Amino acid sequence: MSQPTKTTCPYCGVGCGVLATPQADGTVTIAGDPEHPANLGRLCSKGSALGETLSHDGRLLHPEIGGRRAGWDDALELVASRFRETIAEHGPEAVAIYGSGQLLTEDYYVANKLMKGFVGSANIDTNSRLCMASSVAGHKRAFGSDTVPGNYEDLELADLVILVGSNLSWCHPVLYQRIVAAKARRTNMKIVLIDPRRTTTADQADLHLAIKPDGDTALFVGLLKSLVERNAVDPEFIGGSTNGFGAALDVAREWTLERVAEATGLSVRDVAVFYDLFAANTRTVTVYSQGVNQSATGTDKVNAIINCHLATGRIGLPGMGPFSVTGQPNAMGGREVGGLANMLAAHMDFDPVSVDRVRRFWRAENIAEAPGLKAVELFKAIAAGKIKALWIMATNPVDSMPEADAVRAAIRACPFVVVSDMNAATDTAVEAHVRLPAAGWGEKDGTVTNSERRVSRQRPFLVAPGEAKPDWWIVTQVARRMGFGEAFPYESANEIFAEHVALSGFENAGARDFDLSGLTGADYDTLQPVQWPVRLAGTARMFGSGQFYTPDARARFVPVAPPPPIVTPPGMLVLNTGRVRDHWHTMTRTGKASRLSAHMAEPFAELHPDDAADKSIRHASLVKLENQHGTALVRALVTDRQQRGSVFVPMHWTGQFSAAGRVDALVTAQTDPQSGQPALKMAMVVAGPALARRYGFAVSRRKPKLDGADYWAAAEADGGWRTELAFITEPADWEAWVREAFGVEDGAYLLTIRDKASGRESLALFVGEELEFALYLAPDPVLVSRQWAVGLLREKISARRRADILAGRPGGDRPDPGPIVCACFGVGANQIAAAARAGCHSVEAIGVALKAGTNCGSCRAEIRGIVELNRLEAAE
Ligand code: SF4
Repeated sequence: MSQPTKTTCPYCGVGCGVLATPQADGTVTIAGDPEHPANLGRLCSKGSALGETLSHDGRLLHPEIGGRRAGWDDALELVASRFRETIAEHGPEAVAIYGSGQLLTEDYYVANKLMKGFVGSANIDTNSRLCMASSVAGHKRAFGSDTVPGNYEDLELADLVILVGSNLSWCHPVLYQRIVAAKARRTNMKIVLIDPRRTTTADQADLHLAIKPDGDTALFVGLLKSLVERNAVDPEFIGGSTNGFGAALDVAREWTLERVAEATGLSVRDVAVFYDLFAANTRTVTVYSQGVNQSATGTDKVNAIINCHLATGRIGLPGMGPFSVTGQPNAMGGREVGGLANMLAAHMDFDPVSVDRVRRFWRAENIAEAPGLKAVELFKAIAAGKIKALWIMATNPVDSMPEADAVRAAIRACPFVVVSDMNAATDTAVEAHVRLPAAGWGEKDGTVTNSERRVSRQRPFLVAPGEAKPDWWIVTQVARRMGFGEAFPYESANEIFAEHVALSGFENAGARDFDLSGLTGADYDTLQPVQWPVRLAGTARMFGSGQFYTPDARARFVPVAPPPPIVTPPGMLVLNTGRVRDHWHTMTRTGKASRLSAHMAEPFAELHPDDAADKSIRHASLVKLENQHGTALVRALVTDRQQRGSVFVPMHWTGQFSAAGRVDALVTAQTDPQSGQPALKMAMVVAGPALARRYGFAVSRRKPKLDGADYWAAAEADGGWRTELAFITEPADWEAWVREAFGVEDGAYLLTIRDKASGRESLALFVGEELEFALYLAPDPVLVSRQWAVGLLREKISARRRADILAGRPGGDRPDPGPIVCACFGVGANQIAAAARAGCHSVEAIGVALKAGTNCGSCRAEIRGIVELNRLEAAE
């Protein structure tokens, strides 16, 4: 067995350390790195399954021009010449790069240097714009710099942890588990969750404030007033380290408890309880995430939160501070190198002094002197024909951008589109004129920065397949062919990092927050995780001294007024988009791990029971969502965890995994005026039942071709695929459709049973003792056990069992495990319920009996719910 390679998880902004050990059989064993300060050995379900996402299926292995294989030289020359010609004919603003928080810092650095330094345009933006741009803008307004003051340890030291707009238990599971563990140790610790939905994060909350969408600003503006009234402000800190308190308080004065309650939809009592908690707990950390950032008022929300921490002096000290948690693994690294169109490099802006400094450092006479187009503006400029050459790196805007159908149309109309990606067939890559194969996680070398400013290494432990190359190499080659070879001499990621370090310290001397100069000459290979600024050593916390990066070193209160209440047009619902526990972004990686699809295998809409009843939408039926931008067809999940008047749909499903699950097609491209971040949690949609005449569920060895099905969602299963189906219009010839969809050869005999009374029908094909596929059809949602059916793909099946399989009946000796709850150990809901009935009355007892919930812990809230339900049923 080879030695483990220390690397970093490529998913969320927690930035967990990973030990990856390639095995002789080609598999890779994954474990949490016990020495990494972010996770101390823990991994969540996604991180644990990384080894199952490394297959080369679907990888882009060679450069392609016009869909045909090409050599690297031809592809690079074409990209360079088309960019050169476009710039010569239309100017530098006619070209753009759209990058990703999935890029490593070194990739980002060279892409930014090429565009801003040498093309002379700042039209380089990133999908991080969709994730945390409002936090950047809020930080800069308050601190004069984009600085996260605290660290993860503060979440364990706090007496009060406030989670705002964050389903931390699913979206940042390891961080959530750190808080849960701290709460178990420190019984006086309290958690408040502020979220319109009762997510699984609410499970550990002492107080859940199910706030109205975008009610956060009013809540925190009112908090500022209440802190004064409760005599909980810190006059010394306000007087010595801040400006603008009076103006912020003037706005807040009008926000009485009653007015806050009305604006937020909360009771006066709950608001008062929250305000009392905040006032009483000096050690308070306010963690916020996409529910704050992804709003047309996101920056104001951020500043409303920061104002309360400044007013109490609770910042930069152990267990205190506002804390923005980023979604992506390297959103922070992208910010550091200037991956956002409105930042230059090394956290510098487009002020004349900074532009001149970077110009001299890069020797870039042609450097851009003004910000470029932010993501939404950028795709609108493409649609308007202003941008004529576009390079998309490691991201999938055809699915993730608001008004995603319009974005796809813009990309289709763009005269020249390059996509560099690991995968051949994302919804974006298929639209490109040139596709460049990029190396993936485990193959690349570089650094990432997590949400607590900690720079960690990603190290390779696999050889990149085919002709795939690191992104920094691809950009460097294009830059050289564009005539900028002298400025792009790089032969390794190490050289790029060294230049990045040098720029961060160039003419800095403590004047700028981002400074890695202490790493000058450091051994890149053995670089340990370290928090910036790194001057002599890393820095755990910032601003504890009351000094900020504004011209007078004082923090700024920002007087923010809550926005007018949201008016939902009659008959419409507020669409909230977000993540599920076991998938990541557009599923290009997590979609390959069957156990990650076992938890939630299809796109869904969470609806409140009253809304569902009003609209005649039944649980598990299909719901159609539509507005002026697009439509989506998803499964109805009726639950009182959802707030009335809102509907939640996950963002992950693409055209590769579903017929019509691309929810961002419905999101209006409305942005925050400060940050340019789109309001991805605030679209208005009409929801109604989609009257399917027939529902279906299939397990198959190969991915079926599902043309003609109005609804389908296909997910990898162990040994094949599992597919949910529905037909609003039925095929004229069912058997012909089935043969085409499942690739049944002429003459092959399909086993079929049909029950005229119930309208149920099943078809299956067996080859020897193996099931090729089984399809279950019914006029209502199919009730067959998914886990049992999926398991058939791994079994030898005797002729005797075929009838039971067609009937969808697990044998008596094969109890149905039920829907998977614990993805780490493949434990289903029925198994947990059975253990609860047999005497396991706690999550811990279930863990001992079944192991469920004992790895990442992300499923513990669901386990607790099943145990509790069982207890209530037993008591009746
Ligand atoms: S919490 Fe999970 S997804 Fe996030 S970095 Fe850690 S292992 Fe990866």
